[in-house]
Amino acid sequence: MPSNPADLQEAKEGKLYLVATPIGNLSDITLRALETLRSVDMIAAEDTRRTRKLLSHFEIHKPTVSYREHNARTCGSYLLGKIASGKSVALVTDAGTPCISDPGNLLVEMALERGIEPVAIPGPTALISALIVSGLDTHPFVFLGFPPSKGAERRRFFEKNAKVDMTLILYESPMRLEKTLRDMADNWGDRKVAVARELTKMYEEVFRGSISEALSHFAGEARGEIVLVVDGAAPGEKISDDPGDSSQSPPWKEELEALLSGGLSSKEAAQAVACRFDLPRRMIYQAALEIKKSGRNFSEK
Ligand code: SAM
Repeated sequence: MPSNPADLQEAKEGKLYLVATPIGNLSDITLRALETLRSVDMIAAEDTRRTRKLLSHFEIHKPTVSYREHNARTCGSYLLGKIASGKSVALVTDAGTPCISDPGNLLVEMALERGIEPVAIPGPTALISALIVSGLDTHPFVFLGFPPSKGAERRRFFEKNAKVDMTLILYESPMRLEKTLRDMADNWGDRKVAVARELTKMYEEVFRGSISEALSHFAGEARGEIVLVVDGAAPGEKISDDPGDSSQSPPWKEELEALLSGGLSSKEAAQAVACRFDLPRRMIYQAALEIKKSGRNFSEK
C-alpha cells in the first residue's frame, strides 16, 4: 500500500517525481521511492544501464529514458511533453538525490517554467551522509559541489571560498583528491577535514584530521567515491582580497619561497620546511615545484 494514497492518484495526473536512490547500499531505498518507481509511466535516468540494475533488483519493470548532461534540454522537453499529456515521470540519478551535482536541475527549471510542480521523494545523498559523520559543525554549511578541475576558474574557486566561515562540503574524484587537498591547504590553511569515502559501501572509510594529515594518509592513489567536509574559516581569520598580497601565504610557504630564492633545491627546501612545520614532505615538495613552475627565477642546484 502506498504510504500516501494521494501519490498514486497524482501519478495518473502527470507528475514529475525527483526520486532519491541509494548511494551504495541498496537497502537504503525508501518505501516511497519504490512505490513511486512502480507507479510512474517512465523513469528518466542519467545512466540507464546502472538504473536498470537497481530496478531489476527491486523487480521494477518500467521503460527508462536516458536524461544526461548532453541531451538535457531536448530530453527535458520530451519528458515535460509527456507529463503535460498526463504521463508521470520519475527522475533518478546514478546514485543519491537527483539535482545534486547532476543535470536534474535543468529539468526542474524547465518544469517550473511550464507550471509543472516537481515532487521530491527524498532519500540518500552523499553530502548529508558525509556531513553527519564528519564531526564538524553541521550548521551552517555550504555545499560547493565539484571544484573546477583547472585554470583560473579553479584558482578563483579556492580564493573565493577561503573566507567562508561555514562548514564546506565538496565532491571530488579520487584522481584529483591529492591536488584538491593541496589547493585547500595552500588557500585555506591547514584546517580540519573529514574525507568520507565509499559511504554505505563495503570499503567505507571516514578519515578525520588536518588537511596535511589527510595528504599523508591519501598519498598515492585514493579509490572510490569521495566527499570532503572542511572546517570553515575561523571567525576573524585574516584572508586578503588581493591574491597577490603575500600576507595570504601561510608561514610555511613564505619560508619555502625564502629557501628557494636562497638557492636551496626543491628537495632540500621541502625537507627543511616539512621538518620545521611538521607537514608532509611530499606536499611541500609539490608546492616547491609549483613555485618554480610559476616562473619565479629560482635556480635549481
Ligand atoms: N546526486 C548524488 C548525491 O545525492 O550525492 C551525487 C552525484 S555526483 C555526480 C557523484 C559524487 O557524489 C561522487 O563523485 C562523490 O563525490 C559523491 N558520492 C556519491 N556516492 C558516494 C558515496 N557512496 N560515498 C562518498 N561519496 C559519494
